[in-house]
Amino acid sequence: MSRVIRVKISEKLLEKLNEQINKELYSAYLYLGMAAYFEERGLSGFAHWFKVQAKEETEHAMMFYNHIMDRGGKIILRPIQAPPNNWQSITEIFNQALKHEKEVTKSIHEILDLAREIRDKPAEVFLMKFVEEQVEEEKIFTDILQILEYAGETPQTVLMLNVKLAQRNQ
Ligand code: MG
Repeated sequence: MSRVIRVKISEKLLEKLNEQINKELYSAYLYLGMAAYFEERGLSGFAHWFKVQAKEETEHAMMFYNHIMDRGGKIILRPIQAPPNNWQSITEIFNQALKHEKEVTKSIHEILDLAREIRDKPAEVFLMKFVEEQVEEEKIFTDILQILEYAGETPQTVLMLNVKLAQRNQ
């Protein structure tokens, strides 16, 4: 007996969904590295925020994993690239994170375009959640960057943000 209802999935879409697992896990890896940068410098609020963010990215990867599995597709795991770790400033970190999220957004939009092109409704509905999620991700990083740019990366701004970012629950 089949564990789940199997809906046929195209090879091309399957490849893209598997690639997205890798991209989400890379995001987790990138943010874990950023968490370490802050933790090493005693900025536990920033570190906490990035650890929660890393966990969220792992959850995104699992959502793609589950979608592939639920549809009877094959999971193909590839090596995860090492993230950079030589940041010069906190502003640079948030700039890189925002740049990365914009790339993820582009990737999600491309997969959605493909799903629409091949009329894969389940994939389309599944991907819509991520279209919304990416608006939120870009907004969060932009908001923090705006504070850093407006107030400058002074010790006061950093400590204020450290307190604020410590409050993140999920
Ligand atoms: Mg993500």
